[in-house]
Amino acid sequence: MSGADMAKPLLGHRSIEGDPSTPPAAGRTIGVLGSGDFARSLAIRLVCSGFKVVVGSRNPKRKASLFPSAAEVTFQADAVKKTDVIFVAVFREHYSTLCDLADVLVGKILVDVSNNTEINHHKESNAEHLASLFPACTVVKGFNVVSAWTLQSGARDGNKQVLICSDNQEAKHTVAEIAQAMGFTPVDMGCMSSAREIENIPLRLLPAWKIPIFLALGLFLCFFTYNLIRQVIHPYIREQKNKLYKIPIEVVNTTLPCVSYVMLSLVYLPGVLAACLQLYYGTKYRRFPDWLDQWLQHRKQIGLLSFFCAALHAVYSLCLPMRRSHRYQLIETAVKQAVEKKMNIWVEEEVWRMEIYISVGIIALGLLSLLAITSLPSIANSLNWREFSFIQSTLGFIALVISTLHTLTYGWSRAFDENQYKFYLPPTYTLTLLVPCTVILAKIIFNLPCIQQRLLRIRRGWEKGRYVKFVLPSATGEYSSGETSSNV
Ligand code: NAP
Repeated sequence: MSGADMAKPLLGHRSIEGDPSTPPAAGRTIGVLGSGDFARSLAIRLVCSGFKVVVGSRNPKRKASLFPSAAEVTFQADAVKKTDVIFVAVFREHYSTLCDLADVLVGKILVDVSNNTEINHHKESNAEHLASLFPACTVVKGFNVVSAWTLQSGARDGNKQVLICSDNQEAKHTVAEIAQAMGFTPVDMGCMSSAREIENIPLRLLPAWKIPIFLALGLFLCFFTYNLIRQVIHPYIREQKNKLYKIPIEVVNTTLPCVSYVMLSLVYLPGVLAACLQLYYGTKYRRFPDWLDQWLQHRKQIGLLSFFCAALHAVYSLCLPMRRSHRYQLIETAVKQAVEKKMNIWVEEEVWRMEIYISVGIIALGLLSLLAITSLPSIANSLNWREFSFIQSTLGFIALVISTLHTLTYGWSRAFDENQYKFYLPPTYTLTLLVPCTVILAKIIFNLPCIQQRLLRIRRGWEKGRYVKFVLPSATGEYSSGETSSNV
C-alpha cells in the first residue's frame, strides 16, 4: 500500500461526534504492541478506518518508517499510557518480556491476536496465558483468524469474520465495535474458555473436507484397480498384449466419471435415508444416527468433489485425440479397411449413441457447474431459501438423472455383450449405476402422492401416535374441539 493510500480512509472519514452513522468505536485511540507484519497491517487498517493509532515498539526510531504517517510510533510504555485498548501483536513466547509494563497496563483491555504453530500446542490458550501474566487487565481473544494480508486488503477481500471471546462482556463489546468499524463481522464466541478453539481454527487444514476427500480417494482407488484389471491386466494375461500406455490417460479417464457419478449420488443418498427414517419413525424430532448426521453435513463437499472429477473427465476426454496412440490406432484401422477394401464404415447406431452420449454429458457438466457455483457462500447468500433448494435439490436431482442417461448411452448394449466380461467382471459402468439408480428409484417412490403427503406432514411437525387437538365444524356451523390421534 502506498503512502498516499495509507492516508486515504478505507471506509470514509469518520468523526465520533455529530455523525449519527459513525460507529461509536471509530475515532478513539488504539494501541498496538509490536511492529511486525501483523502490527503494521493492523495499524494501516485502523488508520484507514478512522482510528488514532499509537504503536509501542522496543525500537520506535527504526520501525517508524514502516508505519503510515498518521500512526504514532513510540516506546511500549509510552504507547500503553495513551490508550485503553491495546492489541498485543507479539508472539506468545515474548509475552513475559512485556511484564515490565504491568503497572501501566492496569485496567486496560488487551486484545490477544496470537496463533500457535500446532493444534493444542499449550495446555492453556495464549489468551489465558496473557491473562494470567496480567491479572489487572481484561483480555479479549480476537483477530487471530484474519491474516496480515486480509487486514491490509480491506473489506473487499478475504475472510470478513472476526471471532471474539472474553470473560468480560463490556470489553468484548468494545473490541466487537472496533472490528465492525474496521469492516469486519465480529462473531461472539462466548467466554475465554473458547480461546483455545479459536486459536486452533487457523491451524486446521480443510476440516470439513477430510471425510469427502478420503471417500473420493477410496472410490478412485477401487475403480482404478477395477479398470486396470479390465483394460491392462486382462489383455496382458489373455493375449500377451502390453497395454500399460493406457494407465496415465485411458484408465484414469474411465475412473474419473465413475467417481464423479457415484459421488453425485452420494450427495442425495443421505437425504433418501433420512426420509426413510422419518417415515419409519413417523416423526422428524428423532435424532438421526451420528454417521447420517455427518454424511448430511458433508454433502456440499462431496458434491464439489463430484464436480471436480467431472471437470477433469471432460478435460481428459477432450485430450484423447491428441495422443500418439490414438493417431496410430486411427491409421491402423484406416489401413486395415483399405486392405479389406471396405468403403463404408459409417455405423448409424454408433453415430447416434456418441452424439447423445456427448450432448447429455455436456448438459450434466453444465448442471454440476451451476450446483458448484451456487454452493459458494457469496452466491448462496444472494439466493432465497426457495431458489437455493430448487437449484441444489431439484436441479441436482435432474443432474443425477442426466448423468445416468450419460452413463447408459456410454454403456449402450455392452452389458449384454459377453466379450465385455473380462475375467467375468462386468463393465465398470454397470457397477456405477447401482447407487444412483437406487437413489432415483427412491426419489420416484417418495414422490408418489400417498408417501409424499405423509412425508410432508412429518416435516411440518406431525408425529405418529401423538394426540393432537382438532377443531371440527358442528352441524350448527359452530366449531367444536376434542382430542384425537393424528394417526387416524
Ligand atoms: P513479527 O513480524 O515477528 O512481529 C513480532 C513483533 O513482536 C516484533 O516486530 C517485535 O516488535 C515484537 N516484540 C515484542 N517483544 C519482543 C521480543 N521479546 N522478541 C521479539 N519480538 C518482540 O510477527 P507477526 O507476524 O507480526 O505476528 C505477531 C502476532 O500476531 C503473533 O502472535 C502472531 O501469531 C499473530 N498473528 C499474525 C498473523 C500474520 O498474518 N502475520 C495473523 C494472525 C495472527 P518490536 O521489535 O517493535 O518490539
